[in-house]
Amino acid sequence: MSLKNEYLIGLMGRVIARNPGEAEFHQAVREVLESLEPVIEKNPQFIENGIIESIVEPERIIKFRVPWVDDSGKVQVNRGYRIQFNSAIGPYKGGLRFHPSVTESVIKFLGFEQIFKNSLTGLPIGGGKGGSDFDPKGKSDREVMRFCQSFMTELYKYVGADVDVPAGDIGVGGREIGYLFGQYKRITSTFHGVLTGKGIPYGGSLARTEATGFGLCYFTEELLKDKGTSFEGKTVVVSGSGNVAIYANQKATELGAKVVAMSDSNGYIYDKNGVDLKAIKQIKEVERKRIKEYLNYHPEAEYHEGCSGIWKIKCDIALPCATQNEIDEASAKALVANGVMAVCEGANMPSTPEAIEVFQSSGVFFGPAKAANAGGVATSALEMSQNSMRYSWTFEEVDAKLHDIMVNIYRNISAAAEEYGMKDNLVAGANIAGFMKVANAMNAQGVV
Ligand code: NDP
Repeated sequence: MSLKNEYLIGLMGRVIARNPGEAEFHQAVREVLESLEPVIEKNPQFIENGIIESIVEPERIIKFRVPWVDDSGKVQVNRGYRIQFNSAIGPYKGGLRFHPSVTESVIKFLGFEQIFKNSLTGLPIGGGKGGSDFDPKGKSDREVMRFCQSFMTELYKYVGADVDVPAGDIGVGGREIGYLFGQYKRITSTFHGVLTGKGIPYGGSLARTEATGFGLCYFTEELLKDKGTSFEGKTVVVSGSGNVAIYANQKATELGAKVVAMSDSNGYIYDKNGVDLKAIKQIKEVERKRIKEYLNYHPEAEYHEGCSGIWKIKCDIALPCATQNEIDEASAKALVANGVMAVCEGANMPSTPEAIEVFQSSGVFFGPAKAANAGGVATSALEMSQNSMRYSWTFEEVDAKLHDIMVNIYRNISAAAEEYGMKDNLVAGANIAGFMKVANAMNAQGVV
């Protein structure tokens, strides 16, 4: 798909000129603008009132130095970011990513996507994202703690339970959230729900750890149901072996599928008997080691260096749960040639635009990240609600709410796609449904 509307072509040009070299951000904006062509024809007020012009410009970009001392006594300096993109429907909400690949472009694309994803959950949360080029891999717990304390010593000025509530993302799990929360509490002398993904003893929500992976499978299950099928008996490939991947594997397996492959940034494992999730959890969650260690548990399985080969494995359903642009055109073609029926995105923007084109033109059921992985942030919003009420729901209560949210997301985006004449195009459906609520709120609030 390419842009045809003159106003949108001009706007895309201005986004590129104003954010030079930010390829990931351009990619995310272009995809949304392409979906909005039929919307602005029906709603010219969004152009007249500068809504689309405003939605592509972050409300605030915060960028800061993060100095810390490593175990050898040497000073290390990283860069921190928080991009508060849009607060039209609620306080900024979105994760923090600690990974060496983090740049302003990456945080901007993630923050932009977050606006629409958060809107799709039906909950009152605006869009934001943050992070640092710090790499927790290979660092001691004390080094990670000192880094987190330094990061929060700057970030605390800009966040708050009703202002901006960060959560985890790549490289930020329960350990990091704990250190960040501890430092916030110490600096401010308050006990506020300023972060989500907290440990259960200090305000975390049950089922938050599982939420993105479980939610991805609930969404996929609803899509498959709509198409007259299910997870039962299907072969599944899940990329990544982090938070999202592990719980996507668990739920897909519970729903009757067999997950045969998982990966990390070094390579992937293939186990034709079905990946032993207990071994993966031990390697990744407890020992924080590389996925090739899996062969110590299952010598009959295969390990291959490099990530992209995972998409050459024959499967019915692919759940990319590692990182952006991990499925390119060639990988998409390999999946299609092997008969993949559905691809649903657990990671953010894991498929390139060319890959999405391959899936859509081949009749593969394609669930875009904004919708399919919204279960994580939805459950974070449920954690905020529990913190406000000073109350905790049971695992089953949270899981049931998550399930309902994911089913509703599928139904809403599917209906939006149909309403705008693009039946089964869930990319367009997610962008349109997510956009409409935020755009109407912005319109009602005037030029702000
Ligand atoms: P984790 O850090 O827990 O896991 C990330 C996984 O992806 C690891 O297995 C990691 O391997 C792998 N990975 C990271 N970077 C690359 C790369 N460049 N190439 C190949 N593999 C890579 O992160 P999450 O599971 O939390 O996040 C995964 C994806 O899901 C991200 O896109 C994130 O934005 C998205 N997401 C996460 C949510 C959440 O609730 N956590 C919510 C919604 C979306 P290694 O260990 O080698 O680095």
